[in-house]
Amino acid sequence: MILAHGGAGSRAMTSPQAACLRAALHVGHHLLDRGGSALLAVEQTIRVLERSGLFNAGKGAYRQLDGVRRMDASIMEGERLHAGAVGSIEGIVHPITAARHVMEATEHVLLVGPMATKFAEHFKMERHRQRVSSSRLSYGAMLRKIQKSIATGDRHGTVGAIAVDQTGTVAAGASTGGIDRMLPGRVGDTPIIGCGVYADNEAGAVSMTGWGESIIRLAVAKEICERLRHGKTPALAVREVFRRLVAKVQGSAGALVLTPKGRFAIAHVTANMAAGWWDGRGEPTVKDTFRY
Ligand code: ASP
Repeated sequence: MILAHGGAGSRAMTSPQAACLRAALHVGHHLLDRGGSALLAVEQTIRVLERSGLFNAGKGAYRQLDGVRRMDASIMEGERLHAGAVGSIEGIVHPITAARHVMEATEHVLLVGPMATKFAEHFKMERHRQRVSSSRLSYGAMLRKIQKSIATGDRHGTVGAIAVDQTGTVAAGASTGGIDRMLPGRVGDTPIIGCGVYADNEAGAVSMTGWGESIIRLAVAKEICERLRHGKTPALAVREVFRRLVAKVQGSAGALVLTPKGRFAIAHVTANMAAGWWDGRGEPTVKDTFRY
């Protein structure tokens, strides 16, 4: 079973985005079907979305207020709780694979900034040419811009995926260019384990999207997993945490949730969430509104 998302917000999904999500689910499920790991399926599914340029990740990532694209990504597997992440990485087409390299080639979990970019370059990862649209904004003007902007959930488009493989191991991943109007160096929930993603075979897998600052404050991915561990269904677990997210911090988010037994929920408190799932039967289901 594999699930993928292309962000939660107020915009409806376009048909190229829907087609891309379907193609990504096909790639991920094909790998699971051939005995591939959930980790591999999640990474490869996200790579399809990053490469498309249709979402706010990889080739399509947003720019921060100084005109530079800085991206975040993370990946985690639920058997040994191994995880890897990158924050504020620049010019790399597949930050999700950089996150996987952090997990597999180092003892670290998170690398950030120019040194995360240098790490990815060491692995000869594909780069995209950054046309730096150098911002003429002074730092004071940038600060004023973000103070005026409220988290309306208008421009999202982070991508993510979760899967369970034939051995019952779950994995989760996410990749983003951040939110609209960010100060240079702003990092959201996506690369923070327990906030943007979590995976544990004793509970399940979660991949988040939405207003990162609110997701961080409630460590949403881990909160949902803790409820799964205590026997709650995915729908109930996410409903409880989202109720708190909205009540406590006026948060806005969407989530993919999956247990090792294949029960799942797709949930959002935003108007829309582009997402889908596939268990290999028929065709993938891809929509932009879900009831849970
Ligand atoms: N969660 C991402 C962030 O805050 C944005 C998104 O999911 O659209 O960086």
